[in-house]
Amino acid sequence: MNNATSSLNVAVKGTGVVPGVAFAPAVWVRPRPALPDAGAPVAEDAREAEFARFTEAADAVAQRLAERAENADGHAAEVLTATVGMVRDRGWRKTVRKNVNTGQRAEYAVVGATDKFVTMFEAAGGLMAERTTDLKDVRDRVIAQLQGTEEPGLPSVDRPSILFADDLAPADTADLNTDIFVALVTELGGPTSHTAIIARQLGVPCIVAAGNGLRDIPADRPVLVDGAAGAIVTEVDENVANELVKESQERAARIAAWQGPAQTSDGHRVQLLANVADPKAARAAATTQAEGVGLYRTEMSYLSTSSEPSVEEQAKLYGEVFAAFGDSKVVVRTLDAGSDKPIAYATFEDEENPALGVRGVRIARDNEGLLTRQLDAVAQAAGERAEGATTWVMAPMVATADEAKWFAGLCAERSLTAGAMIEVPAAALLAEEIMPHLDFVSIGTNDLTQYTMAADRLSPQLAYLTDPWQPAVLRLIDMTCRAGQRHEVPVGVCGEAAADPLLACVLTGMGVNSLSAAANALAGVGAQLAEVSLETCRAMAQAALAATSAEDARRAVSAVLD
Ligand code: PEP
Ligand code: MG
Repeated sequence: MNNATSSLNVAVKGTGVVPGVAFAPAVWVRPRPALPDAGAPVAEDAREAEFARFTEAADAVAQRLAERAENADGHAAEVLTATVGMVRDRGWRKTVRKNVNTGQRAEYAVVGATDKFVTMFEAAGGLMAERTTDLKDVRDRVIAQLQGTEEPGLPSVDRPSILFADDLAPADTADLNTDIFVALVTELGGPTSHTAIIARQLGVPCIVAAGNGLRDIPADRPVLVDGAAGAIVTEVDENVANELVKESQERAARIAAWQGPAQTSDGHRVQLLANVADPKAARAAATTQAEGVGLYRTEMSYLSTSSEPSVEEQAKLYGEVFAAFGDSKVVVRTLDAGSDKPIAYATFEDEENPALGVRGVRIARDNEGLLTRQLDAVAQAAGERAEGATTWVMAPMVATADEAKWFAGLCAERSLTAGAMIEVPAAALLAEEIMPHLDFVSIGTNDLTQYTMAADRLSPQLAYLTDPWQPAVLRLIDMTCRAGQRHEVPVGVCGEAAADPLLACVLTGMGVNSLSAAANALAGVGAQLAEVSLETCRAMAQAALAATSAEDARRAVSAVLD
């Protein structure tokens, strides 16, 4: 995706979660009520009435949300119904009653009860933690009702606007009118927050975690939002802004109209595959333009499994993923346990530095059975696929030629097509020595970038280093591609880099022949590839490889297109 705002003065930066450019005045959501303090205790004989006051307010909020759910459809209706469920939740209401019974006023009792559930959700972490926004939203609506003030949420405006918010609750975004709210920007939230999920579904440009400086932008100021770059620009010429919006709309139309299979404008084929974590994701990916699965992260199904699943159990699971793709290619990655993906039965405990520890294929050095049983399961499930179905298996975190040889040997014993991820810099540097043992390789740009730049891929402070456009990373990719060509070993890419349409052209120019990414990113990549010839891709690769910084690389590559 060309970043529309790359040459403009960016006022606020956040995390872009839905690409697209919009230009309109900013409006803030209606404020949330101030949280009440304890106040005077409620007399014992008035507590029943106090709880009735709460019930009436909560029922009124639930009723309003339920009416909106009835008028919505699909996901919006589901989200609103889920919020109604929270307002009616018996556990939450019981906690409010308990608080009121101790003499708390209804407003204060609601705050305490909600805090209790927020703490529980936060302790559970992950997706549960992100649901705390919904809980707080329910709390605020009920408090506003109790106080007789306006319900927090969407402001009423009648012209296209960009909606600013601290965070948006599902109930705000569920039935959002995208003719009015043409982009969303939140101070909080993450890429999997409700705002992001809904914005993705609605296709409305969206930026989250834009905390610093958003409040300084005056209401009604026209702003330009670039959802790909996560950039908000306040000083921009109206004509320039309108031109950028038009280009973005044209690009979106091209993506919507794009039909696979992917190829460059002169017919050079590039396989576009999906990254999946489980059978459900595989079935969803099968409804997109994905030609198969380029990375099946098997460990993701076992994050909360305490003991090793049997070969039969594993084979059943893998078989469900295969079933989603008929006889198309599915690349299974063996367990990538450890570091940010701890698996109880496979992860080494108490490591000083797990990212550099016993993770990926290394777990099998002292526990070969763990790997061979998984390979047995893959072979069993693959044996049940239609004749001619393509099943490949690759090992994560391979660092030496000996590891590649050993893994390939285990695969050969089971007639499996063997590959390795190139995600440790040593593997890229030794690609010449590693390739002869393998049938294919797949470059994991997420870890390759992390280890090349010695920068934690989860650190927001180091995002400028954990960028696959870093020339050091690009050169290792190029080195791998050249070794692949010499040994006639196919080279794919399955890290996030494969989802970046511009970088996808660079990778194609280097000789990468398959790109695997989140299924919903594939059309954007395919549409971009369709606009360039292989020769242009090669020129883009040369421009990227000659760059001395990530920004330089992006600029130089964009310039080839202009
Ligand atoms: C990678 O490292 O690029 C990769 C695709 O694997 P994961 O993100 O699962 O580590
Ligand atoms: Mg990896």
